[in-house]
Amino acid sequence: MLRIVSLREHVAGVLHRAGALKAVMHIRRFAPVPARITILTYHHIADDDPTYPYDPGVADATPAQFRRQMELLARYGTPIGIDDLVRAFDGATLPKNPVMVTFDDGYRSCHDVALPILRAVGMRATFFIATGYVTNRKLYWWERIAIILAQARVASATLTYPQSIEIVANDPRAQAILADYIKDTPSLDLERFLIGVSTAFGVEWNSAIEATHADNLVMSWDHVRALSRAGMDIESHTKTHRVLLTLGDDDLRDELAGSRQELETQLGRPVRAIAYPVGRRVSHRIRLRRAIEAAGYRLGLSNASGSTRLWPASMRGMVPADRYDLRRLSTERTMSDAMYFTQVAVPRLAYIGRHDRG
Ligand SMILES: [Zn+2]
Repeated sequence: MLRIVSLREHVAGVLHRAGALKAVMHIRRFAPVPARITILTYHHIADDDPTYPYDPGVADATPAQFRRQMELLARYGTPIGIDDLVRAFDGATLPKNPVMVTFDDGYRSCHDVALPILRAVGMRATFFIATGYVTNRKLYWWERIAIILAQARVASATLTYPQSIEIVANDPRAQAILADYIKDTPSLDLERFLIGVSTAFGVEWNSAIEATHADNLVMSWDHVRALSRAGMDIESHTKTHRVLLTLGDDDLRDELAGSRQELETQLGRPVRAIAYPVGRRVSHRIRLRRAIEAAGYRLGLSNASGSTRLWPASMRGMVPADRYDLRRLSTERTMSDAMYFTQVAVPRLAYIGRHDRG
């Protein structure tokens, strides 16, 4: 993987210095058919801090990187919102080089760090909120795992739910192994599982401790409303961020319709789109697709890497685009500006398939 990354970074540097990426964006501006919808995914904006107690793998960019990335998108693209995308799938024309910036989960840095930068650069973004964490002041399950492993009072522990599992706290794979149980186990009792982890590792956990962590990392509804007042779009990321495929019909309905209702109640405006938790594509799964449509969503976004091409309405019979299968591009702090620009200009060169994270 490292070799692929460094090779792509090298190619990106060459393309950037040669001016090829600018040329691609200019050509695309004059050949707008099909529209290529470029959507970028973010979660958390923060500098790399060795004392940071939470999941170090979540931050996608430093504040300085994020600003440069927004300036680049503003220079070569036309920022669009959810309204533009819904109208485009209903037949309207998109502006040239449509770009969309999206944030998943609802990290507090969306309000404290990203919003001032978006405003300063004149960019807009769409924020997909996992409503249950905001309302109940709870910590995201992957962050809770990170904290528990970091504070573990014993070197290893055996969990008994959902099956017998031995976990070594300082094993670099421990976080991913525990997260995979949440991502892959049908109808897992999430709270029971997480309490099992903290108990097994001797880490004290209660709602007061959790609320303190949530206040450090998760936006409040006041923060979310401030984003909305600033002209940003606010959409759904379900209630408790569970992989849709692992949910039974009742839980699925509650996660989809419940989060939409909560958002519309808190914000007083319609919610039309959903970003799928953990980014896994779902539109090919009939049960899930029907539940998403029944909950009133008009658009669905995964983290499958790439961009989405949208042909004019008259040609969609031949080249259909799936409104519930929008692709996105991810980034990370180790990515160079040249590589960031490369994946926007030539999406197939993107090397992050982050379709299994947050
Ligand atoms: Zn997420």
